[in-house]
Amino acid sequence: MIFHRLYYLVVLALASNQFLLSISNRQLGVSGLQIQFRGQSTKSEENDDEETRNENNNDSVHPGLRDATISGIDGISTYQMNHNQFPSITGGPRRNHILETFFADTTSATRNSNSTTASNLLIQDVKGRANGIYDFLVFSRRFLHKHPELMFREDITSAYVQKVLEDLDIKFTKGWAVNTNPDIIDGAGGYGVVADIGTGQPPCVLLRADMDALPIIERTEGVDDFKSRNDGKMHACGHDGHTTMLLGAASLLKSMEDSINGTVRLMFQPAEEGGAGGKRMREEGVLTMHPAVQHAFGQHLWPTIPSGTVASRPGPLLAAYERFEILVSGVGGHAAMPHQTIDPIVTASTIVMNLQTIVSRNLSPAESAVVSVTKFEAGDAYNVIPHSALLRGTIRALSTETLLSLRARVQHIVESTAAVHGCNVTITYAPDFYPPTVNDPELFETFSKYVAGLVAEDHKLTDIEPTMGAEDFSFLAEEIPSTFFLLGQGSGKSPDSSFGLHHPHFALDESVLPRGVELLVNVALRALHKLAYEEN
Ligand SMILES: [Zn+2]
Ligand SMILES: [Zn+2]
Repeated sequence: MIFHRLYYLVVLALASNQFLLSISNRQLGVSGLQIQFRGQSTKSEENDDEETRNENNNDSVHPGLRDATISGIDGISTYQMNHNQFPSITGGPRRNHILETFFADTTSATRNSNSTTASNLLIQDVKGRANGIYDFLVFSRRFLHKHPELMFREDITSAYVQKVLEDLDIKFTKGWAVNTNPDIIDGAGGYGVVADIGTGQPPCVLLRADMDALPIIERTEGVDDFKSRNDGKMHACGHDGHTTMLLGAASLLKSMEDSINGTVRLMFQPAEEGGAGGKRMREEGVLTMHPAVQHAFGQHLWPTIPSGTVASRPGPLLAAYERFEILVSGVGGHAAMPHQTIDPIVTASTIVMNLQTIVSRNLSPAESAVVSVTKFEAGDAYNVIPHSALLRGTIRALSTETLLSLRARVQHIVESTAAVHGCNVTITYAPDFYPPTVNDPELFETFSKYVAGLVAEDHKLTDIEPTMGAEDFSFLAEEIPSTFFLLGQGSGKSPDSSFGLHHPHFALDESVLPRGVELLVNVALRALHKLAYEEN
């Protein structure tokens, strides 16, 4: 449990025709931040059986996650949403005639995703519904932004996701993404959430959002109402927006559930920022459990392209990623008598310079890769040669094969350079390197490109060069044909949303949140339709 000075209270109440969410706070004599749930539960007995994954949740903090009081939320405000703005929040799923029309038409070009009347009706319907939950999307994103949590510690984030799913009457399992390397990465993990909407039968497609924040002190201006309340932690990579958009998609899909031909699996994934949470959930069976997932889709907010545009490409979109730590050990001594020492600083400096030759001399000029040393730590006095020096850095490439060949080269250069200087050296890598995020070329050309064009405000998918950033959606795309999209958000003026990802001034352009919901809903429904047609 995290301790703060203020104790706050959020009440999510179901009124007769309204979804009322009010936040109030009160000062307590003791510091404390906790989550408790009270009131009416919408969960079924059946769902209790599914929740056997809850190995790491502390029931004294989350007493069953049954009920509807979240405390620990900063600020005093009241949020109200009409039932009409949040489909199915108080009732069962509603039939969607436009969707029925769309799926009923298996004889025309709709099956090949061409633009038709039915298809246009569907896109307009989804767009209208996504715009209709804008207030919820903003509320949700700001709630998550105020409570950023680092990888494998997404406690409040997970509880919030579960609460919204409960209120939508969507069954889920929790306890996903257990940290298998607690000796290397802090936190027990187990905060992932998975929900299925639809028939529970094949075909099945997966929509994924990541949940974790970064160890960054937030400097964003103009967001005082919902600035990070967790010192030194910040949603600087937009994952608060990603989680929110998947919750928005959940509400739309639930309202259409009767008409969904197959299953849409929602994957709320912790530990993207280096913890390989995507790999943990893959190992835990998120793709293979019944019904097995055939396609996966994900998105990332992207500040370098205009708001409302959607960018992607066939093949590699984001890089494979490895990180290393090098400990160079020598013999310390007086700075005035270097001949009596084995200087680890000179050795480590030579290593840094020699590593620069890998991309320039060992890699084909036609390939892309990065070897960067980002930390150099040694010594603490003017007149002492230290015993050791520590280097940290990262290796990036657009294929796993290249990444592994670069890693072997790094290893060789580090060991041989250290040997030349008479130092000992230890190299350690992350527990899991990330493979590149590769969009299946056929799925992209025959399907994803078209759907993104329907949603994008400029009515086309924007081609983009691969970037050397990495994403652990790659662990899904490695297994099944998938597409990852970049959702433009770089045109927000107040606050300025053009700052890059992981920047302390990063700001999300909330106006694009409905576009992300639209994108997720459209790819899911249309992919199911495509798969059903292919099977018949
Ligand atoms: Zn990030
Ligand atoms: Zn990210």
